[in-house]
Order: sequence, then structure tokens, then C-alpha cells
Amino acid sequence: MLYDETKRVLEYVATLRNDAFQSDHAQLRFKRSYVTASEIAEQFYCEKSMELAKIYGKELTKEMEKGTQAHDNALKSSVPVTEEESFESIFSGSYVTMREIHLIGKYSDVVIRGKADLIVFDSKNPILIGDYKFKDRPNIYLNELVQTRIYCYLLSCMGFDLSKTRYAIIAPHTDLEDSARVRRLHDQILKQGIAGSKELSFNERMVKLFVKRFEMQEVQKDLDFALGYWLGQREAKPTKNPNKCKSCKFKDRCEFSLA
Ligand code: SF4
Repeated sequence: MLYDETKRVLEYVATLRNDAFQSDHAQLRFKRSYVTASEIAEQFYCEKSMELAKIYGKELTKEMEKGTQAHDNALKSSVPVTEEESFESIFSGSYVTMREIHLIGKYSDVVIRGKADLIVFDSKNPILIGDYKFKDRPNIYLNELVQTRIYCYLLSCMGFDLSKTRYAIIAPHTDLEDSARVRRLHDQILKQGIAGSKELSFNERMVKLFVKRFEMQEVQKDLDFALGYWLGQREAKPTKNPNKCKSCKFKDRCEFSLA
């Protein structure tokens, strides 16, 4: 017998998934019926490059491949569970850590989907949402914050209380090939994230940890901007930062290139 909360959330998820895959709901650009949190995040890096990647295709850079590998290594200690089992654990009220959980919600009648790296639940509600960004430089960017707070928003659509929720960008160096070290420090990272620490020392290297409280107004502002593009209300905006153009693979085809 499932908890009532599990039944409610599974029903909500099924309804929205149905909407997302119905062709008659394809009212967005590129004949899409939903957008993902990572696509919205890319809009906050350079919206024009996100659009050009949809037209010409996206290439994986070496840094992205390295990040994906490190990310997969960090997942190795996780135990796979079904969606139903994961919600049953959450609604048991225990302290549980979920990895790679699928999220879904709606804003301005647009379905948004996402997959959060890490969510810590306690007493049936999320207390920390974390996204791992393995990278060569420990900088945290706006697009990464946007992506993670969209995960928070999707959890609120799914009926969770976010009044005590923090979200975190966890940025270990990509050279941490021995990601077992990241896994060993996982609990420590979580404790510090929940307590609101901003930086976590990691022996001779650094894992940057940026933590923020979730605020609904911030994500609403992000989504109002991002969905304006997807709903065809405005054209894609190019970046004003020439450094982004210099390293952009579309710089020779983009009419707004500053490189
Ligand atoms: S060249 Fe610059 S403005 Fe154009 S897509 Fe690339 S980053 Fe954006």
C-alpha cells in the first residue's frame, strides 16, 4: 500500500509527462512541447549559442567529457531504485539522499523537466538540492545557479515545501580522477551545504561549495525571461561578454559575435 503522498506525486508526474509527449502540446520553438532546466540554464550563458546549438548541433568539448566521466564516477556508490520506491522513502519521513531524481513542473503552462544530481530530504521535504559541476576553475556561474534553482521550483510544483530549502553548486576540480575521494567526503559536503557553508577545503585541493537559500521570486524572474524566448515572444539574446564569443564554436556563423 503506497503512501497517499506517493500516489499524489506519481499522478502529477504522469499527467505532466503525458502533456510533455503529446504532439498537440508542441507550442514552443523547435516544435517542442517541453523545455529542460539545462536548456534554460544555457540561455543564461548565451541564449544565442543555445539557439545555434539547436540548429547546428552541439559538440562535446574535452572539458565536458572529463566532467561527465568524473560525474559518473561520483555516482558509483548509489543504489538504483524505482521512482515509486524513491517517493516511498521520501514520504516515510526519514533523512534520505536521492541522486539523479527526475523532476517535472509547469510555468506559464509550459512543461519543464530536469534531473537533479542530488537532493537531501528530511521529514518529507527537500532541505538541500545540489548540482555537481566538475571543472578546471572553481568559479560559479549564474547559469549554474539558475539550473539548480529551477530544480527547486520543480520540487515545489510537485507539492514539496521549500521554506527551509537551500541549493548548492558543488564544484570539485575535474582532475580529481580518484573520485572516491569525492564520494568519501560526500557526507561532509552535505552537512556543510545544509549548514550553509560556502567553501569546503579538500586537503591540497579545493571543492568549491556555493550555497544559497531558495527564493521563489528569483526563479520566477528567471523563468519569465527564459520562457519568453521559447514562447516566441522575443528573439534569442546574444551575450555581451567578448570572452564567451572568443571560445564559442559558433563565432564564425553568429551575426552578433564579438570575437
Ligand atoms: S559568438 Fe558570442 S554571441 Fe554569438 S553565439 Fe557565440 S557566444 Fe553567443
